[in-house]
Amino acid sequence: TPTIVWFRDDLRLSDHPALHAAARRNAPVICLYILDEQSKALKPRQARPMGGATRWWLAQSLRALSASLDAIGGTLVLRKGAAADVIVDVARAVDASHVFWNEIVQAPHLAVADGVTEALADLDVGTQSFPDDLLAHPATIRAKETGTKESRGLRVFTPFWRRVQAMGGPAKPLPAPKKLLPAPKLKSDKLADWALEPSKPDWAGGLRETWTPGEAAAQKHLKRFLREIAGYSSDRDRPDREITSRLSPHLRFGEISPRQIWTAAHFAAAEHPTHSSDIAKFMSEVGWREFCRHLLFDVPDLATRNLQSSFDEFPWKTDRTALRAWQRGLTGYPIVDAGMRELWHTGVMHNRVRMVVASFLVKHLLIDWREGEKWFWDTLVDADAGSNPANWQWVAGSGADAAPYFRVFNPILQGEKFDPGGVYVRRWIPELTELSTKHIHQPWTASPLELKNAGITLGKDYPSPIVDHKVGRERALKAYTTIRNS
Ligand code: FAD
Repeated sequence: TPTIVWFRDDLRLSDHPALHAAARRNAPVICLYILDEQSKALKPRQARPMGGATRWWLAQSLRALSASLDAIGGTLVLRKGAAADVIVDVARAVDASHVFWNEIVQAPHLAVADGVTEALADLDVGTQSFPDDLLAHPATIRAKETGTKESRGLRVFTPFWRRVQAMGGPAKPLPAPKKLLPAPKLKSDKLADWALEPSKPDWAGGLRETWTPGEAAAQKHLKRFLREIAGYSSDRDRPDREITSRLSPHLRFGEISPRQIWTAAHFAAAEHPTHSSDIAKFMSEVGWREFCRHLLFDVPDLATRNLQSSFDEFPWKTDRTALRAWQRGLTGYPIVDAGMRELWHTGVMHNRVRMVVASFLVKHLLIDWREGEKWFWDTLVDADAGSNPANWQWVAGSGADAAPYFRVFNPILQGEKFDPGGVYVRRWIPELTELSTKHIHQPWTASPLELKNAGITLGKDYPSPIVDHKVGRERALKAYTTIRNS
């Protein structure tokens, strides 16, 4: 009697608890992926449809997974629909005895999984879910809420991460199954019919150039990164140096598990003690991912609700023209524009630059952080239901362990500090290639002669700043005072 393995955000073979358990049953395994945009439990304010860039990634990742399954005798079956309906249908068709899956610890996904269990109970099909996408389950890291009997997740990162580490590390990663027993043939959707990839216009050229989605690439990135990690702590803030792991989209789709990263990192630290502080810093970044996911577990509508309700009264501005200039990388601040263009081309943006562009939108332009979050959701290949809104709220000042609102990044100084030679800006803004390093982060201060020699007419080839830094900063602080006083 076959076992169905329901793949979701875990598109890999190694360290896949559900697949591992199914393979050990020595019975045929049906590998099923469901494009579920229909389950009622996927409430609109909590589980948004994927954005364009993540849909593109998903298509590539499913192809890679399908090829890996083929190689061990399995087949990936694709179906579209509400998970419970599809699984009941498949279970009936193959007379399955069990359905296994890995947990996604997010309220709407847990509710969908509960619906599957309920629907299968009538068919006498056993179900089992396995812990997967986190190092620690949110239920294990709680604190008493002041003045109540309730408990909730920790809202400050450092004690949170200390608690996760004190748990002694996650379970050892599992090997990939070597062979799957052939399963009965089943009808499968054609990936192309799901229209996950753009056709006209085809905006995915930059993504194809930049990425190889799939488990094999994720493992390769991790190995290379850990080998070359020296200097990560000091240089991870430098967008001109490509030193970070670039694992975020792989993690987003579970092409690699946090357990595998934890184990490989601890092994590397033991082998190269001189790298241990860089490795600890890297692991604390993985800890931020965990922190954001725990926050999302407590606050399922994190992408729409201010964590600090005082921000509900914030006087945001509606300015479509400014929002569009920001989205297109045409604000006149080179570090901001370089970041937004990197995002459009590659589907990611360096972390430091994400902070700068987010601060610019929220503070200099006074545009609601939710607008920026939505744009990132659509354009990031690593768009994550926890990390994206949690980081936007962190920058806006409305979030957990957030940057204080009065800290307004100066986009000129941020550029000069973290991209001192202008290498990053020149990479993404070809109009400014000939401008001297002295003026690369503030082209409007260059003399007319220098601008002429660099082939730039400000306002024509490259925009003048859409808002003066000082004016923007003061306006932001004033707006903040209105909520502080209320
Ligand atoms: P590395 O430096 O190699 O870090 C390793 C891993 O740690 C990353 O892959 C990621 O999983 C995690 N990580 C690192 N920094 C953070 C962080 N600040 N918060 C949460 N996890 C982190 N990251 C996403 O994965 N998805 C998002 O949707 C997302 N949106 C963001 C929005 C804003 C406004 C900001 C400021 C940051 C956002 N981040 C998001 C966090 C961070 O920018 C990316 O995780 C990081 O740039 C990915 O590059 P890397 O894998 O090379 O990072």
